[in-house]
Amino acid sequence: MDKDLLVGIDLGGTKVAAGVVDHRGQILAKAARDTQPERGPAAVVATINEATEAVLSQVKDGYSRLAGVGIGVPGLADVDSGVVLFAPNLRWDNVPVAAMLRQHREVPVYVDNDANAAALGEQWAGAARGVKDMILLTLGTGVGSGLIFEGRIYQGAAGYAGEVGHITMDENGPLCGCGRRGCLETYASATAVIRQAREAIESGRETSIKALAEASPKGLEARTVFMAAAQGDAVAQGIVDNLVRYLGLAVANLVNILNPEMVVIGGGVAAAGEQLLGPLRREVHQRALPGPAQSVAIIGAQLGNDAGIIGAASLVLRGRSPKFHVNV
Ligand SMILES: [Zn+2]
Repeated sequence: MDKDLLVGIDLGGTKVAAGVVDHRGQILAKAARDTQPERGPAAVVATINEATEAVLSQVKDGYSRLAGVGIGVPGLADVDSGVVLFAPNLRWDNVPVAAMLRQHREVPVYVDNDANAAALGEQWAGAARGVKDMILLTLGTGVGSGLIFEGRIYQGAAGYAGEVGHITMDENGPLCGCGRRGCLETYASATAVIRQAREAIESGRETSIKALAEASPKGLEARTVFMAAAQGDAVAQGIVDNLVRYLGLAVANLVNILNPEMVVIGGGVAAAGEQLLGPLRREVHQRALPGPAQSVAIIGAQLGNDAGIIGAASLVLRGRSPKFHVNV
């Protein structure tokens, strides 16, 4: 039987999302479970196994058609050994997740950082199909990134490459989760947008953000601020402008250094679409050198909520030769 199916596992601090993906990047079945990382790595791995079995059982001949399992993790992974070196949201240090997966047949397992996986997914089946040199930035709780050069993820000397979220924009800026100040993440993440909106509301500035947030069951989100800005709210527009300015500076610097063909913007904040991308393109064109600015396309990610699953599945196709075989 053809090994034509992949399993992608999007391992987050809150949810484990698993999916069976075909060779064109279409999801055939998916399932989600709570991660509950406080139970420890062994219990989380058991949950990954259970979710994998749940999705494979939904597809005809799922097990015998399985080519491999890819896992995207919210942290630093050693892709050669399948070890998660450091994942603060999971409270994981040196967890050999690939080796811990135990099922009933032998398939290769690939592990990589979730943003790297998402970049590969966009290149395989999303916005950057066929593009060899690209950068993915995900604007969510933090700012993640994956760098692909000559068709492959750039890992750097020790696997740390691509920490674009921690480029210093202002050494005296807001405190970042990494312990440093003024990182890009403190200006261009959903968290940063919400923080500035809260500060504006608490300082008593006149803005419609508060009323919009109160009218929404989800409360104050980054999209609330973009919505208010679209309706002409000056405070909200100021927050959006601030994000565009810092993100534009960072992207212009990346474009000057790396001359990518495409910069793909994903994550929750990217749902703002052209309201974000239009001003961002103008900012990058103003700041970057003319040559690299003219040769880069800045576009939105296409895989949306499924980016994590499809990206993780793509690790199987784009992974190097399998380092880890487990019995499934
Ligand atoms: Zn930082």
